[in-house]
Amino acid sequence: MSRQRSSDSIRPATDTGRYKSSDTYRRSTRPTRRKHVFKGTPVVPGIAMGRVRLKFRQTQVLSDLTITEAQVPREIEVLKEAVRQAKEQLMLARSKVAQEIGELEATIFDTHIALLEDRSFLGKVEEQVRSELKPAEVVVSVIVEGYFQTLSMVEDENLRERAADIRDVGLRLLDNLHNVKHDAAVVDKAIERHVGEGDIVFARELLPSDIATLEHRHVAGVFAEAGSARGHCAIMLRALGTPTVMGVEGVYTILRDGDFVIVDGSSGTVFVNPRKDIVDSYKRTQHDFHNYQNLLNEEVELPAVTTDGVQVSLLANVSKQSEVALGHMYRMDGVGLYRTEFGLMVRNSFPDEDELYQIYRNIVKAMDGKPVTIRTMDIGTDKILPYIKMPHENNPALGRRSFRLAMELDEFQSCQLRAILRAAHYGDVRVMFPLITALDDIRMARRMIRLACRQLEERKRRYNPDIQVGMMVEVPAAAMSLGKYVREVQFFSVGTNDLIQYTCAADRDQIEAAHWYRGTNPGFLALLRHIVQEAEAYNRPVSICGEMAGDPFYTMFLIGLGVRHLSMAPPQIPLVKKIIRSINLPGAQRLAERALQLGSTAQIGELFQTTVERILGRDITVWTRSQSE
Ligand code: PEP
Ligand code: MG
Repeated sequence: MSRQRSSDSIRPATDTGRYKSSDTYRRSTRPTRRKHVFKGTPVVPGIAMGRVRLKFRQTQVLSDLTITEAQVPREIEVLKEAVRQAKEQLMLARSKVAQEIGELEATIFDTHIALLEDRSFLGKVEEQVRSELKPAEVVVSVIVEGYFQTLSMVEDENLRERAADIRDVGLRLLDNLHNVKHDAAVVDKAIERHVGEGDIVFARELLPSDIATLEHRHVAGVFAEAGSARGHCAIMLRALGTPTVMGVEGVYTILRDGDFVIVDGSSGTVFVNPRKDIVDSYKRTQHDFHNYQNLLNEEVELPAVTTDGVQVSLLANVSKQSEVALGHMYRMDGVGLYRTEFGLMVRNSFPDEDELYQIYRNIVKAMDGKPVTIRTMDIGTDKILPYIKMPHENNPALGRRSFRLAMELDEFQSCQLRAILRAAHYGDVRVMFPLITALDDIRMARRMIRLACRQLEERKRRYNPDIQVGMMVEVPAAAMSLGKYVREVQFFSVGTNDLIQYTCAADRDQIEAAHWYRGTNPGFLALLRHIVQEAEAYNRPVSICGEMAGDPFYTMFLIGLGVRHLSMAPPQIPLVKKIIRSINLPGAQRLAERALQLGSTAQIGELFQTTVERILGRDITVWTRSQSE
């Protein structure tokens, strides 16, 4: 697959970027030609057509911007309007959450509304706009950051929680300030009020915590300026099956709330206000896609077994209970990866043990006796807990993330382990630790489990003392030395998303690095073979739970290598199963051998592509773009 970037030739001449000069404060000149086609990265296949709703998050405010004295009154007016909008949005969100989720969960909005009514905060913003001649967003971002830094360092837990609230409100205000200034008053409200079933959402950048809202609204499609196919938002959208394109550069400058768009998540194309013949043609394509999905639905009840009788277990990746139900719909054999961190991100404080235990127990009960592998919290990088202050790191993917951070937050980690051990009393539960880099890591993890068991013993709680313990293989140092870990763990699961990132030294989220982030890199495939062979030699089950597991492009290769457990987003199960049911083991082994002999990423990619085309036929293959290639 060639690198996909938005074409410069279609970038409007007026794209001067945001906040480059004080001209930005004049109403921007709109480009006149607003029919465009944009290319990005295909993330979730399918076609969505409809009105676009825009969601912006203000992430960067340049602090050296100034305004003139004459602009001050307008600036204060804009500030007041932004505050008014924020209150309205919050009150609406509060009543929705109270109705649909619960009164307790809705109370978070009360704190936010109170902050917006706090005269000392708003008075300070107004005062600094006047005295320092700075735009309101600059002042708001500096003050909010100051409050956040101070509060997140104090001992008192309640005050620390308030830091997260302040940041949340600050971001909302910044969004609104931007919208008011740029004549886009409906923009942020869109996500809470105007986004409805069948809409398409555009964001410059999405965070995993946004996805819950999109799910709740049953949006038809999503496209974003930032992001890649392997980021955590992409993973969550894949579970929802929402057609998605990411990395769509330049579209922001021409897009307006309410524009009609087509999102083609299979080819990575976005059309803004397309001609009628394009819309008609896409209606036919949408029809073809539904036929393709119906074809796959025929696979659902069939066993995942090759033509010569090799059984493969197809497991689901989930992050919440509703996805367990989805997994059952697709006849999963169990949950191979329960990403617990998502449930921790949509809150404003860490849950207590009983609360976590209830959540995990509900999931275990919903499994109907099938196994579930619960991964301990894998936080950091883009998976931010709003109530944890993270220091700035130049390279967060190589720093304090995942297991490393969980060990620093040892009280949270212990609490989570106790909850998992208690839930394990009710079914076939395994626990798995992410980002294990050295033997010390997994030994430390085991010590924490022992400690958690002792604590539960003392409290006379029911729990499973014999829970199976596993580790994710997603760091090359661990991948190269599996034998060292076999005394500590009963199973391995390969996180290909991170393992590719660290093996190829290419950020999984950075579009500019996509050319090097390749599952088809010969070095990566050789490493994968090594892992599978070592696990087999040491008699430890190994599964794949990164995006590669659900990517039909790799299925035959993985079966040929000897992988027998694949864990993926539930909607991916039928297609992977279709491939498994069409192949035999000697053929898969020959394919794996051939791929491992090839010298270049491109050759391997072509081999996999032609193989999938041969198995599925060209008409079907067009819908099955690879996510890991
Ligand atoms: C992986 O890295 O492949 C994985 C499954 O973990 P995550 O995508 O949650 O980092
Ligand atoms: Mg990972």
